[in-house]
Amino acid sequence: MLTTPYERFVQNMRTAAALLHIPEDELRFFLEPQYIHEKTIALTKDSGEAVYYPAFRVQFNNARGPFKGGIRFHPDADMNEVKALAALMAIKTAVVNVPLGGGKGGVQCDPKQLTITELERLSRAYISAFAEHLGALRDCPAPDVNTTPQIMAWMRDEYEKITDTFAPAMITGKPLSYGGSHGRGTATAQGGFYVLEELLRSLGRDMRNERIAIQGYGNAGMHLAHMLCKAGATIVAVSDSTGGVYCSTGLDVHELDRVKKENGSVVYIRNAQRVSNEEVLTCDCTILVPAALDNAIHAGNVQAITASIILELANGPVSPEADSILEQNQCIVVPDVLANAGGVTVSYFEWSQGLSGEMWSEQEVLNRLQPIMLTALRDVQNMAHSHSVSLRTGALLLGISRIRETMHVRGWFRKD
Ligand code: NAD
Repeated sequence: MLTTPYERFVQNMRTAAALLHIPEDELRFFLEPQYIHEKTIALTKDSGEAVYYPAFRVQFNNARGPFKGGIRFHPDADMNEVKALAALMAIKTAVVNVPLGGGKGGVQCDPKQLTITELERLSRAYISAFAEHLGALRDCPAPDVNTTPQIMAWMRDEYEKITDTFAPAMITGKPLSYGGSHGRGTATAQGGFYVLEELLRSLGRDMRNERIAIQGYGNAGMHLAHMLCKAGATIVAVSDSTGGVYCSTGLDVHELDRVKKENGSVVYIRNAQRVSNEEVLTCDCTILVPAALDNAIHAGNVQAITASIILELANGPVSPEADSILEQNQCIVVPDVLANAGGVTVSYFEWSQGLSGEMWSEQEVLNRLQPIMLTALRDVQNMAHSHSVSLRTGALLLGISRIRETMHVRGWFRKD
């Protein structure tokens, strides 16, 4: 059994590489990052106590453009996880065919234990530690788990102070008042929605007949729930870190928002059955959307899953063992590098606006996002179909092929 995110990535990558007949020496470039940066960040707490946190920036591949990927503040963030997430970013930017590479960052800390002023100092310290490796045309970070638009604003401000420049495109996910883009907050859900809507159409299924369960009623999961509801689907179950709720006739998403805001969790909604997080995954539904954690669907619970489609809004929510079983059970898994790529696509729009000085309206962002997501879905489906593989392997094949083509053209490898 594979335990670490990076081991899981390597296994998936080896499967795809074998299908593309990539020689072992070339494969190394797809398994190992180009650059790894690791520092210890010292933070002086408000009390005067000094604490130290391991901090990482992994620059996986920049063949197609500057490294791109979020910064995660989490107690479990470590080099292994950051490496795997950086690699997935390289594949993701290639799948949606935007001119960016893949990277990721992290600080091993518990941000919930920090005051707002400590969080600001930590954010600035991260930039100060890695500034020499960052920049709009070198490596452009973004938010990830526990990092917010406000944190991106502090980070940009710190970078501009250190470099004595104006650097609107050095980081994305910023507040609108400081170089952010319209549509970034809902982009991940919006991209997932476009992909799911088109997939259903290609299968001859109607959104109005779909019964959907969502694990993780956070930024991505909540916005998707609203979009699905508006399109006529029934949201039968949702969960957050406190637990889950189920209602066979459908949950009211506005009521979910209200109870989550007022009481901190969706579980306090009335007229719904309280269930465990696990039961949300295995409840009676047609579509399951994991939008919280990695490895949520694993060998231990996969057989109990009833959904015929899984839309991976979270990164890495299905283990490789579970993935094989889902494939045998003919469950369609829309992989993370496609399903949640709306986020990085609108980050690319924000980066472009920062470089050009333009400001696009929300409608303009949506008008550009939809064709990118639909083209990516079609390209992944075609690749999966021509190799008789799953959408996940198809997406990996597509991403690797695009990166590889650029590396060949640039002369990083001899062309076969
Ligand atoms: P978030 O912090 O806003 O939401 C996460 C939600 O998951 C929260 O409601 C939390 O309570 C819930 N949760 C935590 N543990 C849980 C558990 N055991 N069971 C059920 N729910 C649980 O985060 P987000 O921005 O919505 O991101 C969610 C996932 O989507 C992450 O894997 C992230 O990497 C991925 N993702 C997000 C974006 C984005 O733009 N937000 C882009 C790409 C990928």
